[in-house]
Amino acid sequence: MRVMKKTQVALLRHTDYKSDRLRNILEKCFFYLGGLESIIKPRSKVFVKINHLSPPSTPDKAIVTHPAFTREVLSLLKQLDVEITVGDDIQSKGKDGFLVSGYRQVCEELDVRLVNLREGGFREMDCAGKVLKKTYISPLLLDTDFILNLPKLKTHSFTVFTGAVKNMFGVIPHGLRHRYHREFIRSDVFSQMLVDIFACVPPHLTVMDGIIAMEGEGPGQGNPKNVGAVIASKDAVAVDAVASRIAGFNPLSIYTNQLAHERGLGIGRLEDLEILGANIQDVEDRSFKHSALAVGILRRKIPAFLHAFIQDQLIFIPEIFTKNCTSCLECVDICPVGAAQLEKSSVRIDKSLCIHCMCCHEVCRFQAVKLKQKAVGKLVNGLSALYGKITSLLT
Ligand code: SF4
Ligand code: SF4
Repeated sequence: MRVMKKTQVALLRHTDYKSDRLRNILEKCFFYLGGLESIIKPRSKVFVKINHLSPPSTPDKAIVTHPAFTREVLSLLKQLDVEITVGDDIQSKGKDGFLVSGYRQVCEELDVRLVNLREGGFREMDCAGKVLKKTYISPLLLDTDFILNLPKLKTHSFTVFTGAVKNMFGVIPHGLRHRYHREFIRSDVFSQMLVDIFACVPPHLTVMDGIIAMEGEGPGQGNPKNVGAVIASKDAVAVDAVASRIAGFNPLSIYTNQLAHERGLGIGRLEDLEILGANIQDVEDRSFKHSALAVGILRRKIPAFLHAFIQDQLIFIPEIFTKNCTSCLECVDICPVGAAQLEKSSVRIDKSLCIHCMCCHEVCRFQAVKLKQKAVGKLVNGLSALYGKITSLLT
């Protein structure tokens, strides 16, 4: 009887971003996967998709893929004599966002091209997805030979978890990302859209920075969490399955894992993976804090006819906490409908215009945008967090 080969994922423990030791760990990861040159052909073109997020932040906040992590991956990649471009679509309001995050310095040091994707424009493409028929993608990804995906392990206030699959959301224009936030307000539909984009530009290799992850209200408002994991695979969905398990989830309870698995875009079920290196039980962290705002897990248990009511209760109503507000106007710039406004030198939100996309909350670095919810919504969130914890303990 022919035995099917399982999808391989390298999982290694490592607790800091110090150069030599980290490079050894990455070399070991690639060794487990058959060698870097078996995945990425020497002298080819490689696009490296980092997780940068806007507004730019320093690496200690654990919002971006740590530039020291990327530096070591790039150093190994350079040994293949490949043409490298590192990039993401970032919004940094006249500043050099890559300088703030440390990416400018790393790429200059290694003499590697670093690009804000918006500079090269975007190309319309058919994607024949489940919710998207067409979208716009950076040509840098469409015209490259290989895509190397470097996500950060984080929990997420809307999609519950964010990793390798969601990292590819950054390859479409900023404005379109906001439009999709407005159009796909249910997290299962939004996740299906994420999988559509992922399917347009599937990475050839994913190496996740789970050394210091983010817990709580990711992608930008959570707290750094020492996890000490480097996870790599040719299968990005498998990386997310392992990472979400480490963060205390049942991997198939995460919509992006489940949907990508069902669509044959990768393996989201742990039983179907061969994990090489560390034992996943030794890396798993049951104290990992999940988002208190996300309700994706519990929503599966709510009958369909109640979705509209629950959706209304779950809506987040942003309010400016004026004591913390520095009037930096990042929220005013990013608001897709002009609901966040500057009025007589202070920022306010016009609730009649607000479409509850949470972009102002995501962009504010000063914890000055608070999200309020109706009482039933708060109850559902509490139950969702409890349900998530219980199911992760039972699986
Ligand atoms: S709410 Fe936050 S993002 Fe908006 S102006 Fe104030 S500090 Fe800046
Ligand atoms: S005020 Fe905030 S939540 Fe409302 S539409 Fe603008 S960015 Fe989105």
